[in-house]
Amino acid sequence: MSLEALLGLSHELGRAERHLAILGEGNTSVRLSPEQFLVKASGGNLASLVPEGVTACHTAPLLKLLDAEAMTDAAIDQALLDSRVDPAAKKPSVEAIFHAWLLTLPGVGFVGHTHPVSVNGVLCSELAREFANRRLFPDEIVCCGEASVFVPYTDPGLKLAQAIRRETVAFQERYGVVPRVILLENHGLIALGPNPASVLAATLMADKAARILLGAAAVGTPRFLTPEQVVRISGRPDEHHRRKVLGL
Ligand SMILES: [Zn+2]
Repeated sequence: MSLEALLGLSHELGRAERHLAILGEGNTSVRLSPEQFLVKASGGNLASLVPEGVTACHTAPLLKLLDAEAMTDAAIDQALLDSRVDPAAKKPSVEAIFHAWLLTLPGVGFVGHTHPVSVNGVLCSELAREFANRRLFPDEIVCCGEASVFVPYTDPGLKLAQAIRRETVAFQERYGVVPRVILLENHGLIALGPNPASVLAATLMADKAARILLGAAAVGTPRFLTPEQVVRISGRPDEHHRRKVLGL
């Protein structure tokens, strides 16, 4: 069931020893149908998320917000409240806007947004863009794709959702695929995929890649795989098989 799967993913992402999110940080969502999705309500804790902390939303009104030129915070708040399927449900966070859009992408059923200590260590540095565009080791390509979307720093809110859409569309035009990972400069990570396992795998592998990059930078100049090596790994039949076995 979608709600149980969403709670399970949230609890995995929220595990304290993983250092991906603390307190009310991060949010998760699942597509219910083309018209509706479930998203963690504002302020809830991922590690201990309960059904009452999840809100069902209509997708269409939030997609409409994305096309708005400029809106006051009060108008955005009202639109978020109005998007709830059950008016008694908790208010979804402003990040529900980008969840709504990402869940319309082909093959995307789940989205997980976190603020990992490791990934943010890189995203708050001069290596941020390179971390998105390049790859360090083969398993990073298997779980996170050939590259990640990079979104230059934007204040959280409607403007950030619009920037995520803009950069993701540009990525799809460039690579011809839906991304696995979106990196928000000075903010955090979004992982997307068909199921909870793919979102968790992309998140954990991005976390590992960030820790490896921090280690590589500590001992010298990091050496990324070449673009040719990345394409070769990405196209290998045994890597496709491994993705399948992992359920990615
Ligand atoms: Zn965030």
